[in-house]
Amino acid sequence: MIYIHVPFCRSFCTYCDFYSEIAEEGMFSAYTDAICAEIKRRAPEIDDSLKTLYFGGGTPSLLPLGALTRILLTLEECGHGGPYTEFTLEVNPEDIVEKGLPYVQSIKALGVNRISIGVQSFDDELLRWMNRRHNAERAEKAFRIVREAGIENISLDLIFGLSNLSDSVWEATIDKAIGLGPEHISCYQLTVEGDNALAHRLENGDYEEASEELCQGQYRLLCQKLSDAGYQHYEISNFAKPGFEALHNSGYWSRRPYVGFGPAAHSFSGRGRSWNSAELDGYIHTEEALSVEDEKVETLMLALRTARGVDTDFLHGNCKEEDIQRLEKAGALQKTGRRFRIPEDHFFVSDEIIRELI
Ligand code: SF4
Repeated sequence: MIYIHVPFCRSFCTYCDFYSEIAEEGMFSAYTDAICAEIKRRAPEIDDSLKTLYFGGGTPSLLPLGALTRILLTLEECGHGGPYTEFTLEVNPEDIVEKGLPYVQSIKALGVNRISIGVQSFDDELLRWMNRRHNAERAEKAFRIVREAGIENISLDLIFGLSNLSDSVWEATIDKAIGLGPEHISCYQLTVEGDNALAHRLENGDYEEASEELCQGQYRLLCQKLSDAGYQHYEISNFAKPGFEALHNSGYWSRRPYVGFGPAAHSFSGRGRSWNSAELDGYIHTEEALSVEDEKVETLMLALRTARGVDTDFLHGNCKEEDIQRLEKAGALQKTGRRFRIPEDHFFVSDEIIRELI
C-alpha cells in the first residue's frame, strides 16, 4: 500500500486543518524531485501484499501530468509499478471541469481506476461559505466527465453537521449524490480543529457549532437514505455499493503496512508508525515504535469503526468482561459469529463506546 501526499491547494477551505500550501507553478518540479528521491530511498519499505496506490491531499488534481508520470515511473523503476489493484486519485471538481475529459482520459491511461471527488455539498450558498472553488453545477459536471472517461469506481465526499446546514438542504444533497450513482460515498461530520478560518469565526462569535442533536439527526438521515439506495455502511464514515469498499482505506483499518511519501505523509510498518514533517523543503522523517498497549488500543479503535468489527478473542483478551457485557446488554456491542461489532444505530457514539472499552 502506497500513499502519496500532494500538499497543494488553489485556496483554503474554511474548515480545513490539513497541511497544504497555495500552489504556485515552480513548486511542482521541486516537489516531484523530493518525492522521487524519497521513493528511491524508502522503496524497500513498500509491502505489495495489498497493491494499492492512493494520491491524497491537498489537491492531487493540481499535479501536472508530467509530474504524475515521473512519480509512477520512479515507482516502476523501484519494482513497485502498476497495475495496481486500486489506484485512487482525489480530485477537486473545478480542476476536472477546467481540464476536461482529455485530462481524465490521460490519468485513466496512467492507471488510475478510482476517483474520489471532493464535492462536500450540492448547495451553492454552503459551498461559498466553505470557500470551495466549485458550485453544485460544476460538481455534477465533474462527476459526468469522470464517468464519461470510463472510470467505473467513483467516490464522492460530503460534509454534514454544520449549524448552517438545514436538514432539508442536507437531504437534497444526499438525494443529488444518490441520483448521480457513485459507487462509494464518504461523509464526514464537520469538526472545528486547529487554527483555521472556521476556528477564528467560532472565536469571534461568527459561527456556532452544530448541536449534537442536529449532527445525530443528519447522520441518521444519511444512513437511512443510503441504505435505501443500496449502499452498505461498512465503516463509520463510508458507504459503498456491494463490491466497492475502498481497498486502500480498509487496509488502514485492518492495520496493514503502508508507506506514505511526501510532506506530512504517515507510514505504518506493522510494528511502528512514522511520519514526514509538514514542510515542502527538506521534510524530515521521524519513526516511533508502538508499545504493546498502543497496538491493542489501535486495533480496537480501528476495527470497531468498521461493520466487520473485531475478533471475539481479541476483545475478551484485552477488555474487561463487565464492560463487554454491559455494552452488549445496552445494544452498543453486537456479537455475530467470531466478531464483535458496534451496530449501525450506535456508530454515531462509537467514540464513547470505544473509550469505555479501553
Ligand atoms: S481542498 Fe482539501 S486540503 Fe485543500 S484547503 Fe480544501 S479541504 Fe483543505
